[in-house]
Amino acid sequence: MKRGLLIIMSGPSGVGKGTLRQMIMDDKDLNLYFSVSLTTRLPRAGEQNGVDYYYVTEEEFKEDIAKGNLLEHNYFVSHYYGTPKDKTEEMRNKGVNVLLEIDVNGAKQVMANCGEEDKPLSFFILPPSIEALEARIRGRRSETEEVIQERLGKAKREMSEAPNYTYSVVNDNLKEAADKIATLIKEEIAKNN
Ligand code: 5GP
Repeated sequence: MKRGLLIIMSGPSGVGKGTLRQMIMDDKDLNLYFSVSLTTRLPRAGEQNGVDYYYVTEEEFKEDIAKGNLLEHNYFVSHYYGTPKDKTEEMRNKGVNVLLEIDVNGAKQVMANCGEEDKPLSFFILPPSIEALEARIRGRRSETEEVIQERLGKAKREMSEAPNYTYSVVNDNLKEAADKIATLIKEEIAKNN
C-alpha cells in the first residue's frame, strides 16, 4: 500500500486556516486525517479538546518533548504547540493523507527532517491584504490589544516565508481557496498512486 501524503498548511493567525481546513476535511475524496496538535493555550469559545487541540499543561508538553513524542514543536505567542508523532506515522502507513496545520517554524522543522523522496506537500495561506487580516484578528474578540499586536507582527514576518512552500493560496474567497487546495491535493494523490 502507498504511504499517505504529509500535507502542511500554514499561514498567519486569523487568515482563515481553520475554516479552510474544515472545508477540505469534508471532501472525502481527499482521504484526509487532521493531525490534532497539543497546545498549552486555553481553548477559545467553541473549541473542543481532542477535536481542535489537545489542551495540556506546560509540564505535560515538556514531558512529550523530552520523550521524543513530537514530530515538531514551537513556542508561539507565549504558548507551546506541537504535532504528535505516532498518530501521523500510523495514519500515513495506513495510506491516509495527513494534514498538519502548523506555523512556519514547525513547517521548517518538518521540511528539514523529510528526505527528498518524502517531501511534504505544503500550502501557505495568504490574506487578501494586511488590513483584512487585522480586521479578522480583531473580529475574533478573544484577545487583548497586546496579543493582537504580537499576532499581527508575527503574521507579517511569517508571510515572508511563503516562497518556501509548494503553493501559496490567497484566501480572498473561502470556497475558491478551498477548491484550489483540494484540486492541488488531488493532483498529488494521482501522482503518488
Ligand atoms: P492558534 O492559537 O491561533 O490556534 O494557533 C496559533 C498558531 O500555531 C497558528 O499559526 C497555528 O497554525 C499554529 N499551530 C497549531 N498547531 C501547531 C503545531 O502543532 N505545531 C506548530 N509548530 N504550530 C502549530
